Amino acid sequence: MAVQEETTRPEAGEWAWHVHHDTLVERLIYSLEERILHIVKFKPPEEQELRLRLLRVVKVELPVELIALDKTLEEAREDTLKYSCDDRPPELLRAYMDAEAAYNHFLGGPEMVALHAKECPDCPWDGETVFPRAGPTGSPFPRRVN
Ligand SMILES: [Zn+2]
Repeated sequence: MAVQEETTRPEAGEWAWHVHHDTLVERLIYSLEERILHIVKFKPPEEQELRLRLLRVVKVELPVELIALDKTLEEAREDTLKYSCDDRPPELLRAYMDAEAAYNHFLGGPEMVALHAKECPDCPWDGETVFPRAGPTGSPFPRRVN
């Protein structure tokens, strides 16, 4: 059933663990296949095995709170993009930052920690990166500032 297989390939919009080294879970912007090709083509060879091992589509049903927070964040982002950088109303920027903070706060909460532990065993995620302290070759990675 080749057609059925085609429809089950992870595409943009689906949720996946560790799409980037500094994210726990996010919606794919491109298909999973495109992200894998990007990693193989552009990421340092010593990082690729871990990145490819941890990158996987979420199988569990994610909490409705996360879905709602993601929707709010996306809407806030779209609102800010209606304006040029210099003309963005402060209240829209504040709404975006608040939405981002709420989203990130939920990601670090006990519900997501438990789901992550269930689906991503033997994972070096430290709450900020899958490369704690330094990269595999000792090169430091930029830490996300929230
Ligand atoms: Zn993980």
